[in-house]
Amino acid sequence: MISYSILKRVNQVTKTCVRYKNPPHHWSVLRKKVHPKDKALDHFDDFYKQVFKKKWPSIREGLLAKQKYVAIINNYGDKEETIAKFENNGAINVRSLFNLEKGYIKEEMAKNKRNRTLEEIWRKDREMEQKHSESNSTNTEVQDEDTTAKYSLETSMQNAELDYKRMVDSKNALSTEILNEFIPATKLKGNEDYIPESTHYKMFDPATSTFKIEKEYDMHFPENLNVYCYEENNFSSFEPSGRASTGVLNYYIMDGGSILPILALDLTPGCTVLDLCAAPGGKSLLAIQTLYPDRVLSNDISYSRVNRIKHVYEQFLYDLNERWFKTERVKLSHADGRNLFTNGFDRVLVDVPCTTDRHSLKENDNNIFKPSRVKERLKLPELQSELLFNALKLVKKGGIVVYSTCSLSPIQNDGVVNMALKKIWEETKLEFVVKDLTPALLQVRRVFELASPRLLRYGHLVLPKKAQNYGPTYFCKLERVT
Ligand code: SAM
Repeated sequence: MISYSILKRVNQVTKTCVRYKNPPHHWSVLRKKVHPKDKALDHFDDFYKQVFKKKWPSIREGLLAKQKYVAIINNYGDKEETIAKFENNGAINVRSLFNLEKGYIKEEMAKNKRNRTLEEIWRKDREMEQKHSESNSTNTEVQDEDTTAKYSLETSMQNAELDYKRMVDSKNALSTEILNEFIPATKLKGNEDYIPESTHYKMFDPATSTFKIEKEYDMHFPENLNVYCYEENNFSSFEPSGRASTGVLNYYIMDGGSILPILALDLTPGCTVLDLCAAPGGKSLLAIQTLYPDRVLSNDISYSRVNRIKHVYEQFLYDLNERWFKTERVKLSHADGRNLFTNGFDRVLVDVPCTTDRHSLKENDNNIFKPSRVKERLKLPELQSELLFNALKLVKKGGIVVYSTCSLSPIQNDGVVNMALKKIWEETKLEFVVKDLTPALLQVRRVFELASPRLLRYGHLVLPKKAQNYGPTYFCKLERVT
């Protein structure tokens, strides 16, 4: 039997050990600690591997490697000199890459169309010959006439144009079947913050997805928007911008993927734009740099972040107070985007708060994978769909809404679009068309690595890849029709 005195001694020793444990910043404690960015990587490995399968290792490598940026020329700075300097350094104007690609695509299409037409004619010829040989010689003439009419060149051309690759079909993309495959059910490890995304699958109900989808074949690149990039595998970077003779900065540096949501907005001269979640203001500035909008309202829920937009405007827009604020060409607003009531915009951008996948793997500070932010993270899809829902109410009839994130998560991307479209239809009967930009985006294939349309139902996704390391950027274009 252990005596009371021995037990007392053991207790004392234990207490002593506890008292002398290493402080929180000791290397041995730090080594054992799971940091938010490690947690994020675990989460992505578990979840995205199931979504992107063989593609995941290269996306992962891109996410962990050095990000690539593009530079947006400031039209109010020393534009010509800056362009000349960039071009001397080997940077390329993204607009010229788009136009070059457009030219190739036109050539390819013309060639394919010609080949398809010829193939079709030869096939019909063979069929007709076969029919001839089978037919009775007395009614040959009548049969010839019928067949020629049925297989005219016009009919063949029409048939050759049909493309069923991307339809509103639950068998495609995020069907129930595939969604079920995503659910890492056996891997729930008991930590409430470990695999929260899978709990959101229930929000994505493919049975309700009967929204109209229309293909779009072209994407306009505004004449005055000058975006410079370095080609694939060229890892040169843009230095911080110097000041122009007018006192403003000459260029703004941002992730290359961010230009696509603005191009998808299809801005036109004189349009009005609402940027619902605008801080720090990069995409609002990009919209302004097209020189198209008459008015841009940049809103954000956070007061300090609205000040960051103001700071960006001060740095890039010459004579901000007189030329921009007084004339209301730009306006700032500090409100919850879910409750904003100013409506009637031609274009609305909803660039929502998300898991910011690249940032979550790089920085522990302000990381959404911190245990203290679990609830916030779990509620993201709900917040995102409420923001998109309000944006759909604020856009004019005939206007365009672009929803975007910097996450790879199908729940925060197509899942949110699905939820918001369902709700807007149920509550307001407003009709929207999803614009499938797959054909139009062929123009950007040399600049961006885009996820296969088979992985997406509504939007498009720029995938990080080491050699051309932009994104992730998800964007979806919606047009209000009634
Ligand atoms: N579009 C910005 C840009 O390109 O510079 C980045 C936007 S950032 C991804 C998301 C922003 O949404 C954050 O600035 C955040 O403060 C804001 N936000 C979060 N919740 C919001 C809400 N309920 N209403 C409006 N903005 C919100």
